Amino acid sequence: MKVIIIGGVAGGMSTATRLRRLMDDAEIVVYEKSGFVSYANCGLPYFVGGVIQDEASLLLQTPSSLFERFRIDVRVNHEVTSINAEESTVTVIDHTTGHGETTGYDVLVLSPGASAVVPPIEGIERAMALRTVEDVEKIVAVADENPANAVVIGGGFIGVEIAENLVHRGIATSVVEASGQVLAPLDLEMAELVADEMRQKGVSLFLNESVVRIDERGVELSSGDFVAGELVIVAIGVRPETGLARGAGLTIGERGGIAVDEFNRTSVANIYAIGDAAEKRDALDASATLVPLANIANRQGRVVADHIAGLDVRPLATIGTAIVKVFDLTIAATGWNEKRLRAMGRSPLIIHTHPSSHAGYFPGAKQMALKLLVDRSTGAIYGAQGVGTEGVDKRIDVLATAIRAGITAPELADLELAYAPPFGSAKDPVNMLGYIAENLLSGLEENVQWYELDEYRAEGVTMIDVRSVSEFARGSIPGTLNIPLDELRVRLDEIETRDVIVNCQVGQRGHVATQLLNQNGFKAKNLDGGYLTWSTSPASRPLELAGARLD
Ligand SMILES: Cc1cc2nc3c(=O)[nH]c(=O)nc-3n(C[C@H](O)[C@H](O)[C@H](O)COP(=O)(O)OP(=O)(O)OC[C@H]3O[C@@H](n4cnc5c(N)ncnc54)[C@H](O)[C@@H]3O)c2cc1C
Repeated sequence: MKVIIIGGVAGGMSTATRLRRLMDDAEIVVYEKSGFVSYANCGLPYFVGGVIQDEASLLLQTPSSLFERFRIDVRVNHEVTSINAEESTVTVIDHTTGHGETTGYDVLVLSPGASAVVPPIEGIERAMALRTVEDVEKIVAVADENPANAVVIGGGFIGVEIAENLVHRGIATSVVEASGQVLAPLDLEMAELVADEMRQKGVSLFLNESVVRIDERGVELSSGDFVAGELVIVAIGVRPETGLARGAGLTIGERGGIAVDEFNRTSVANIYAIGDAAEKRDALDASATLVPLANIANRQGRVVADHIAGLDVRPLATIGTAIVKVFDLTIAATGWNEKRLRAMGRSPLIIHTHPSSHAGYFPGAKQMALKLLVDRSTGAIYGAQGVGTEGVDKRIDVLATAIRAGITAPELADLELAYAPPFGSAKDPVNMLGYIAENLLSGLEENVQWYELDEYRAEGVTMIDVRSVSEFARGSIPGTLNIPLDELRVRLDEIETRDVIVNCQVGQRGHVATQLLNQNGFKAKNLDGGYLTWSTSPASRPLELAGARLD
């Protein structure tokens, strides 16, 4: 059997090496149009910043190492220019010699990745995108000339990583983002934490602004402002690389990726498509989705090799778990966010918490922000987000596992997670999400969100802050009455309405207060995530700092 693979990085090389382990007699040819194979594209931003100093460490394999171990015929600088699906042939150009050839296959695997979206604006040819080793070499060459300033267009994962790395190099860096927030997988109030970190670390952030023109001095924004940038990077997203597939008449899906079945077969039986180029199935509702991430590309590569080799495979679906470092913060998310749920007309149960990374009494504990989204009727977990300096990664990984395993939000309380004071808490932050979900789903407590306060205030409910007098003095939500929790029992007569909204710092004392009030004839609700969530949300911010508010 002859298998041709187009694209020699995440998905393509996973297919090639797995297939060799399963089929020693198969002829496996990989065509890669860049000069490198199996390179660590996820590490490229860190090469810009000098965190990864040796370019060779980004190159995980070479054609000769792959031939030595696996007898895989890897041809770099070879671009496949067309596919003839009827005749099962591909046409390839060797860019080192200019020589072209047409060659046949029994099975073809497409893993050509995605290409950077490049907006059609004046001067865009000055902007550099980051996808390949060649791209990073060009960016580093310009950065080595010590530009005074740089502009990154786009505040997504790659944009914020590059911005951080440019700052590491001492380059004054601006990020221009057309939407009201960085990192689209996060909801607004979580993204504000990231925006704050970026500003504190010296990044100039321009939200709700687009670049309309680029010249040799910098970029002009939609507002008319000019931002200086001797180096301009474009990172506004990627789109599936579907040119070959379209040319071959393969079906393109509703999201613009190559349409595939549950085994990653395209509309032509002996052609598979994987990775960023292919559409995926969303694990939560089976809809078509695009998730340009390395985990799923690698997994699909292996599964396709298994399928080609005739092994039984489980159909794959994705929940899009992702993580990124932005200066001192770790930001991670899995599943669906609130924006998406609301756009679909769903009204999820929302839980914000601010737990410690490990036992508070043990030195070094760091506070994080977690957000959980839950189906109100079934308790199923839709998604989660975390922002903090420590411990976010493992909480989001546990929650991602819970989603895949069908563990409901209240059942998070039952998870027995490793605990000793330096590592966690006897009630781990994940367990605490479960306890809170249990209280809310059982009707023991109701919570309200930071963006609902104005509405309740207009209805005339009494808003009580149950933190201490000194905490209250350091900052409070306008219109709240301070009755510290320990005085609440004896000061109930000061509360003039039956409907009450309670807040504390993070929601925990607020829970105690709502229980007390509800058992004394009041109808109390707890402000989810407390003052801390409110104070880091757009509700508390001057408009020029806040992104667009949630509808
Ligand atoms: C800068 C950067 C940082 C990233 N960071 C992360 C991260 O931290 N975490 C994460 O999960 N994901 C990250 N990603 C995304 C991740 O790298 C991709 O999701 C993953 O590599 C996709 O695998 P793939 O096989 O589909 O495509 P790729 O790995 O992109 O490989 C596609 C290859 O196909 C080649 N090719 C395309 N067309 C042809 C053709 N016609 N002929 C021959 N060869 C062709 C391309 O040159 C390319 O090398 C990052 C991506 C980039 C660019």
